[in-house]
Amino acid sequence: MRIDVVSIFPSYFDGLTLSLLGKARDSGILNLDVRDLRDWTHDRHRTVDDTPYGGGAGMVMKPEPWGLALDELAASDSRASERPTIIFPSPAGEVFTQATARDLATREHLIFGCGRYEGIDERVFEYAADLGEVRLISLGDYVLNGGEVAVMAMVEAIGRLIPGVVGNPESLVEESHEDGLLEYPSYTKPSVWRDREVPPVLLSGNHGAIAHWRREQQLERTRRRRPDLLED
Ligand code: SAM
Repeated sequence: MRIDVVSIFPSYFDGLTLSLLGKARDSGILNLDVRDLRDWTHDRHRTVDDTPYGGGAGMVMKPEPWGLALDELAASDSRASERPTIIFPSPAGEVFTQATARDLATREHLIFGCGRYEGIDERVFEYAADLGEVRLISLGDYVLNGGEVAVMAMVEAIGRLIPGVVGNPESLVEESHEDGLLEYPSYTKPSVWRDREVPPVLLSGNHGAIAHWRREQQLERTRRRRPDLLED
């Protein structure tokens, strides 16, 4: 999979050289490139923002650098079998879920555009729709200073679903949200720690009883912490 990220703070993404995604990049499973939006400016100050039409507080990201960035990054797909998926993180977008991650993990090319200030000039989203499928995606119902942290979270959630990134694919199947429920509790050695015991069923060796206990724990936990998931 190819992922391009455009940001005015590319060094935010240095962490994506570490751990499983770092290895996936080294091995070529994931082709991740982070670009500085200012590279597509042409003035001395490398300006990416301006005051909002209609007045109001804050600045808005100018369309011109975004247009040039998208032209360059999407144009390289002209011979590819599918158009890129262009994702703009936004608190006003659809909420990112495991299902979103699973869907996006099947795409050939993702382009992420990180907003800052009051956001990006609206015409950029319209223009991007001529180049690929546009998705405005929110990390949750709160406001961040910029799209970088949201894109880091999305790239990690998507990246670990790409075949070969996580060593044992079985570990992906049993995780929270994969079957609509939260995961059961996990324990490791020692079996007694500070007077707290591991549930005896997990030491029983009875695989049927363990599977039954885990399922019960998933339901109970989901009912208690996230009843909205059971409604869905
Ligand atoms: N004025 C915008 C609004 O009210 O919808 C918020 C702008 S926010 C300060 C700047 C940038 O942070 C956004 O353009 C977006 O890229 C990112 N951002 C903020 N909150 C986010 C969230 N919950 N999910 C995804 N991206 C977010």
